[in-house]
Amino acid sequence: MKLPPVDYEAPRTVSHALELLAEHDDEASVLAGGQSLIPLLALRLARPAVLIDINGIDELTGVSAANGQVAIGATTREYIAEQSDTIADAVPLLAAALPLIGHEAIRSRGTIGGSLAHGDPAAELPAVARALDAEFVVRSQSGERVIPAAEWFEGYLTTSRRSDELLVEIRFPAAGRATGTSFQEVARRHGDFAIVGLAASLTLSDGAISDARLAFAGVSDVPVRAADAEHLLVGETPSTELFDEAARRATADLRPPADLHGSADYRKKVAATLVRRGLRAAADNADERQ
Ligand SMILES: Cc1cc2nc3c(=O)[nH]c(=O)nc-3n(C[C@H](O)[C@H](O)[C@H](O)COP(=O)(O)OP(=O)(O)OC[C@H]3O[C@@H](n4cnc5c(N)ncnc54)[C@H](O)[C@@H]3O)c2cc1C
Repeated sequence: MKLPPVDYEAPRTVSHALELLAEHDDEASVLAGGQSLIPLLALRLARPAVLIDINGIDELTGVSAANGQVAIGATTREYIAEQSDTIADAVPLLAAALPLIGHEAIRSRGTIGGSLAHGDPAAELPAVARALDAEFVVRSQSGERVIPAAEWFEGYLTTSRRSDELLVEIRFPAAGRATGTSFQEVARRHGDFAIVGLAASLTLSDGAISDARLAFAGVSDVPVRAADAEHLLVGETPSTELFDEAARRATADLRPPADLHGSADYRKKVAATLVRRGLRAAADNADERQ
């Protein structure tokens, strides 16, 4: 299907992009990699009057580490992030999730900021951001806000970004050597969106778990943290019995959606299996990294 007629702007600086966003407000859509937006336009599910293409803004791209955080510019391509040694070393959960996004051709255009601004609850990166308590830096002509991941995802494809704001950077905490991570998912075919996904992170201290993070993709209209299971894990020693009980607690209150890919009950069973697998893999990974 062809795109509907739409005006096109290609600012070269963030300040010009912010001017355009203020001028057009909710009549405008930001265009990053276009891997989600262009299909929505073609299907007439989005009807912006203006596209603001941010691909030519150099200051929005790059990966840097400072003060215990890794900052990723919004238009950094998923494929470039996948090749980053800084991300592999300091945000291994993100590094594990990136290759699971679609196919190489999609990741070579799709951006980190685009995926997180789109806020698809079945996508990998929102679950990673939620698990790690990433921070979202948005800018408008009235200034900058830093929004915690817990407040970023508001509903299906809906975030707390205002229409005059641009997502400029996402900050992830750097993992220490005692932290092990794993991203697990079940999809019908390689490259498909996950039916259910799980971001898992465990930090070990003298053999016991000192920090536990679990966030699901595909079980609700936003990525979901499993707080009960996380509380159970902290202070305990990794074991099969502990991970079985964590899986039970993590899924007890889940009310996943049902669709042609799987019933709610099937998704719940998959979620429990992913918790067991994810925790075992994260614990093993923590041992390897130390
Ligand atoms: C066939 C196919 C399979 C895919 N499979 C997967 C998958 O398995 N897992 C997965 O996670 N994703 C998948 N995707 C989506 C892919 O990851 C997209 O790249 C991503 O969701 C959107 O990133 P983008 O840069 O292309 O954003 P765009 O499509 O350009 O934009 C997406 C939305 O975010 C907004 N936006 C983008 N950047 C900003 C910004 N900086 N500030 C404010 N708003 C912004 C846009 O206005 C738009 O509403 C798939 C896509 C395709 C086509």
